[in-house]
Amino acid sequence: MEDKTLETMRHSASHLLAAAVMELWPQTKLAIGPAIKNGFYYDFDFSQLPQKVTEADFPKIEAKMAEIQKQSLPIKPQKLTLAEAKKIFTHQPYKLELIEDLAKEGEKEVSLYTLGNFTDLCRGPHVANTSEIGPFKLMSIAGAYWKGNEKNKMLTRIYGTCFSTAKELENYLNFLSEAEKRNHRVIGRELDLFSVDEYVGPGMILWHPKLAAVREVIEDFWRREHRKHGYQYVYTPHIGLSHLWETSGHLQTFKEAMYPPMSMALKDKEETASYYVKPMSCPFHIRIYKARPRSYRDLPMRLCELGTVYRYEESGVLNGMLRVRGFTQDDAHIICREDQFVKEVNQVLDFALEMNRAFGFDKLKVYLSLRDPANKEKYVGPEKNWELAEKSLKEILHRRQLLFDEDLGGAKFYGPSIDLKAIDSLGREWQGTTIQLDFNLPERFGMTYIGADGQEHTPIMIHRTLLGSMERFVATLIEHYAGAFPVWLAPVQVKVIPVSDKSLDYARSLTEKLQAEEIRVELDERSERMQAKIRDAEKEKVPYMLIVGPKEAQTGNVSVRRRGEIDMGPIKFETFLASLKEDIDKRRQV
Ligand SMILES: [Zn+2]
Ligand SMILES: [Zn+2]
Repeated sequence: MEDKTLETMRHSASHLLAAAVMELWPQTKLAIGPAIKNGFYYDFDFSQLPQKVTEADFPKIEAKMAEIQKQSLPIKPQKLTLAEAKKIFTHQPYKLELIEDLAKEGEKEVSLYTLGNFTDLCRGPHVANTSEIGPFKLMSIAGAYWKGNEKNKMLTRIYGTCFSTAKELENYLNFLSEAEKRNHRVIGRELDLFSVDEYVGPGMILWHPKLAAVREVIEDFWRREHRKHGYQYVYTPHIGLSHLWETSGHLQTFKEAMYPPMSMALKDKEETASYYVKPMSCPFHIRIYKARPRSYRDLPMRLCELGTVYRYEESGVLNGMLRVRGFTQDDAHIICREDQFVKEVNQVLDFALEMNRAFGFDKLKVYLSLRDPANKEKYVGPEKNWELAEKSLKEILHRRQLLFDEDLGGAKFYGPSIDLKAIDSLGREWQGTTIQLDFNLPERFGMTYIGADGQEHTPIMIHRTLLGSMERFVATLIEHYAGAFPVWLAPVQVKVIPVSDKSLDYARSLTEKLQAEEIRVELDERSERMQAKIRDAEKEKVPYMLIVGPKEAQTGNVSVRRRGEIDMGPIKFETFLASLKEDIDKRRQV
């Protein structure tokens, strides 16, 4: 209800924008102006104007909008026949085209709304009076094709936002500027973390040494935790023959996301096979299972792999490390019996919660991703498998008393899933853990085990990632921590800063001691002033700076400075080292 009111108000604000633009530049041709998430837009054709309209014009437009709004004009509806409406919009070709479209749809009447001197073609609804439109702000300008079709004319889209109260608007603007400061692409550049090189290929991530260090820590931690939870590691190839992907159903339902095949005939005319770069690792893990006969005693079998996969994403949706074409999943497949899968799913859920907590994500939002009932042909496997899988996951969530939202159409082609989205420090949701229950691929691949009854049975498979992909997860961390990683993850944990060259020997000896303790340390040997070195280490977001001069060298002390300009004063080097190691071992969020 609340949302509907806000939407109506925002849509009304788009008319206010159009009214202001028409007063400023009467030659403007109007297209359409809907409400959208967090605001509204209006598309204009400014090509009749002698000058370009840019963001520099926003203050002028906003002032005019405010002027009209203050007159408390009623927004009056009116019904006209198509012919009457056409007369009103003689100079508005886009409106005339819309009226024609309505005529083709068999409409006899159209609805118009008028505020002051301005009349627009619109279905409504609107607020009754311009005074009911809350505080607004114009946000940005972009090109947009008429009716979204690239064959049509490029129009100018002006985006705006509008809230019920000034406080809400201010909060939203603060949120946006905070989000921009945390943008992982911006921080990635500033801190030399990663790059996407068009010369290498769009959507492919180059991990620079600093971010590679973060990933190494995450992977080491991930491996240890998986051992503790009874998983076994495997390694599988990057490409596989086409029949693998036929059996799995990928070529039937996932082909658009796959890179085109590599034909062996190009190498050898006798060869007819072709290979595909893997978009998922499942078929390989299944073949490992099938490499020998299995008995009920072998189950559950938990195979895990940091598997690098490639998926073709449209270039328009690529976004830093968040939407990429090559990524490494923290993948695992649990192959189990019917009497085991409920327990296994619950264990994965517990594991996922622990893992998220270790990275500072205490709050998670739970989704149950189901089939799109209107598009059942997008999924493989018989109806009974789907019904059972969906029902089972729902029951597991109910029994744990977890609140969840259903995501219709969110399931993968082989089975439904439980998805956990991490909520970051700004309250944004990030895709991470997914636990998929699959009764289909085991059947398709003819996976079997010999039961206690001596008979052959088909196992059940759980596909799961806890972090999602290394790329997306690390991007999430960069934004969550605004680049200031806690000390256990930080690319450089300690920066040693000698006050002058006289203390260089002592600084070097400390650096070597820290290195020997596997601390990621850097010595700033430059002949810069100490203050400049501190400033640079702050910019690099290094958690600890050790400032050492002759006094420290004499006493075996270090002057510790925490990131964020917190001077902790001089302490014994050994005391500092012990507390640092404890923070790292306990993975404290400092
Ligand atoms: Zn309207
Ligand atoms: Zn899988």
